[in-house]
Amino acid sequence: MDHALRRERLDAHIAELGLDALLVTRLPNVRYLTGFTGSNGQLLLTRDRAIFFTDGRYTEQSTQEVPDLERVTYRDGFAAAVAEACGRLGVSRVGFEAEALTYRLWEDLRREARGVELVPADDEVARLRWVKDEQELGLIARAQEAADRAFEEVVLSGLRRGTTERELAFALELAMRRAGADELGFPVIAAFGEHAAEPHHRPTDRPLRRGDVVKLDFGALVDGYHSDMTRTVAFGEPPARLREVRDVVAAAQRAGIRAVRAGSTSAEVDRAARSVIEEAGLADRFPHGLGHGVGLEIHEGPFLRWDGDDVLPAGAVVTIEPGVYIPSLGGVRIEDLVLVTEDGCREIPRSTKELIVL
Ligand code: ZN
Ligand code: ZN
Repeated sequence: MDHALRRERLDAHIAELGLDALLVTRLPNVRYLTGFTGSNGQLLLTRDRAIFFTDGRYTEQSTQEVPDLERVTYRDGFAAAVAEACGRLGVSRVGFEAEALTYRLWEDLRREARGVELVPADDEVARLRWVKDEQELGLIARAQEAADRAFEEVVLSGLRRGTTERELAFALELAMRRAGADELGFPVIAAFGEHAAEPHHRPTDRPLRRGDVVKLDFGALVDGYHSDMTRTVAFGEPPARLREVRDVVAAAQRAGIRAVRAGSTSAEVDRAARSVIEEAGLADRFPHGLGHGVGLEIHEGPFLRWDGDDVLPAGAVVTIEPGVYIPSLGGVRIEDLVLVTEDGCREIPRSTKELIVL
């Protein structure tokens, strides 16, 4: 991946906003533009220079990961280091990520960098990140492969009566790590029976019983990139009502996937899936958006929502994840990553999404 090329794509944005420089403080954005994988790093970007900032813990690491940029290790706080750099480069109009800069840092910057005008800017870097390159797609595919293998091993051939939600969540984590995950992409959601009525249930000591649905939302992290998948299976024959619900959710997901192509808006895709659930009389049982982008962050743009105006570009990777939740009975969600193409999309996971009765 060519970080310099990515940084160049911000030149037009910097010029368009009449900025001398852009201050990038949001860590996934810094990683995207530099390759730095540590927990504290920032970037000051002008149209022909880029300065990377970090603290003493990462001096050595940044030498390895960000060899192509001027690097500043600061001791007396980030704001003072930025002020010094702005003075040295002669920049006076500096854009910052309005969604990410804390009030504290904004105050520090105003105090330290007198004479520098701070201009709130949209998160243009996040928008560039919507479209994945081949290497990014490869990492997402590897993260998904780890989840697919864990599903097969732990769920399709490993579910046992009496296993608790916490045990199952841990088993999925272990299996994903054995299958190549660096770590979990996010805490595993494992919900049995009535717990599946919560969209984001935290695993408990509830044991698995015959007749439970088992809703699992999990994903891996590989080299900074995430996967995200939800499967709902049944342990023994599930309540008949949940079988009906499952068919509605599956039809909604198919409709959503069919609506995905480059140029579709977020609202159009959400509507395609949501109308299936509405026609089944379950509109108020689908309380969340249809999906979200996945990449360096588990939730990133574009966001698929009923009121969303994000336009899907070819190369974006988004989830399609309708769900229906019936209090005290249970719920069903099916979630898959898809790669947006010019004329449709390609599903990335290979795990079956049938309501398998185990
Ligand atoms: Zn998920
Ligand atoms: Zn998701």
